[in-house]
Amino acid sequence: TKSDVKGFFTRNAFVLLTVAAVILGIALGFALRPYKLSYREVKYFSFPGELLMRMLQMLVLPLLVSSLITGMAALDGRASGRMGMRAVIYYTTTTVIAVFIGIVLVLIIHPGKGSKDEFIKQPIEQINPADAFLDLIRNMFPPNIVEACTKQFKTQYAKRVVHVTMTVNDTVVTLNGSQVITREEMIPVPGLVNGVNALGLVVFSICFGLIIGGMREKGQPLKDFFDCLNEVIMRLVAIIMWYAPIGILFLIAGKIVEMDDIADMGGQLGMYTVTVICGLLIHAVIVLPTLYFLVTRKNPFVFIAGLLQALITALGTSSSSATLPITFKCLEENNKVDKRVTRFVLPVGATINMDGTALYEALAAIFIAQVNNYDLNFGQILTISITATAASIGAAGIPQAGLVTMVIVLTSVGLPTDDITLIIAVDWFLDRLRTTTNVLGDSIGAGIVEHLSRHELQKDPEVGNSVVEEV
Ligand code: ASP
Repeated sequence: TKSDVKGFFTRNAFVLLTVAAVILGIALGFALRPYKLSYREVKYFSFPGELLMRMLQMLVLPLLVSSLITGMAALDGRASGRMGMRAVIYYTTTTVIAVFIGIVLVLIIHPGKGSKDEFIKQPIEQINPADAFLDLIRNMFPPNIVEACTKQFKTQYAKRVVHVTMTVNDTVVTLNGSQVITREEMIPVPGLVNGVNALGLVVFSICFGLIIGGMREKGQPLKDFFDCLNEVIMRLVAIIMWYAPIGILFLIAGKIVEMDDIADMGGQLGMYTVTVICGLLIHAVIVLPTLYFLVTRKNPFVFIAGLLQALITALGTSSSSATLPITFKCLEENNKVDKRVTRFVLPVGATINMDGTALYEALAAIFIAQVNNYDLNFGQILTISITATAASIGAAGIPQAGLVTMVIVLTSVGLPTDDITLIIAVDWFLDRLRTTTNVLGDSIGAGIVEHLSRHELQKDPEVGNSVVEEV
């Protein structure tokens, strides 16, 4: 009947609007392409999209901190320890599966056809994977917590790559003065969300929340404070969600207007793109839903339907951390996932769990080896899979961060890092798909961890300060 139809539209207004925005954005983008807008015009045109990015990013820092602190404070030590273990096992398992899919596909399809033969093996010591790994750990402990919220960290890894000291007229001059590189060559430090050391804040907030939880009544004022902060942020998210479709429309249209014509899509690059898409699809449509079904015995696609708005936002923004506020909203409101689970699994997941990025890093590195006619032995493929995992953990949830951390993967087996330029042309597109996979991975993780922790979570689902263990 008429009221049923109306009910359907009001219930799904957000999702319908967002889907419409994507379709309109694509159409508008292609319609405007023939006009060859200038750089400035494109920037003006995508301004509403830029605003959405900024609004979402504005919320990430307070959301990350308040959700982790309240999430941890709501559980007792034992319960949170178990939940943390489950989450870490989930992150690791899915990332390893993703890397495996990427490697198997790129070896079978073999998109790179060895066009170059003048390839010179790079000296390994340029970036040592061990240094990159130590950097990851270093970032977990920011020496200054305020600085961690604002400033980029100069890590050993970054110094080894670019020896940044000062900027003179867009040219970065190195410490020893023997090497001058331009600003474009600067490599951002992994583990940073727009100048925020997310990994460090995650570690700090988890510890902070756990201690508050352990303090019982004495910790109550801080607990109330962060609970309230979290509530305020989520209300802001609810407002921004109404603006999201407009922002997404212009983000997508703007990107389509400005993208380069890709001449050689039929060749290696085309095959590479298809291989990455296949890998991400297998992971997102088959592996993750199957895992969800096996653990929870519930229909994974009903769960995914509740996430649609977050997935489309990931597609539009190509940033899993900017999508985080929307992911929270979808999981807590549509899928009714326990807040004590989302508050831990989502922010940590958005920072370290990136299945799509891991899959893509391994696949792209082997593709570059194939283009260079460079035969990888089993040990090297293993090295690639380990460094791809580390690189996905280190990659920030911002657009094309994965392309930057590729450097670690390539140098670990001595492949030329310059060849990253081969895949830049299609990266903006693949980035959107892997970001969507990343967000899906975190969300399904929340569903699975909630199911596994259901006994510990039984009591008091809303407030959650009196967790009673089932023995
Ligand atoms: N853009 C991705 C994300 O935010 C990271 C990447 O570049 O792979 O999840």
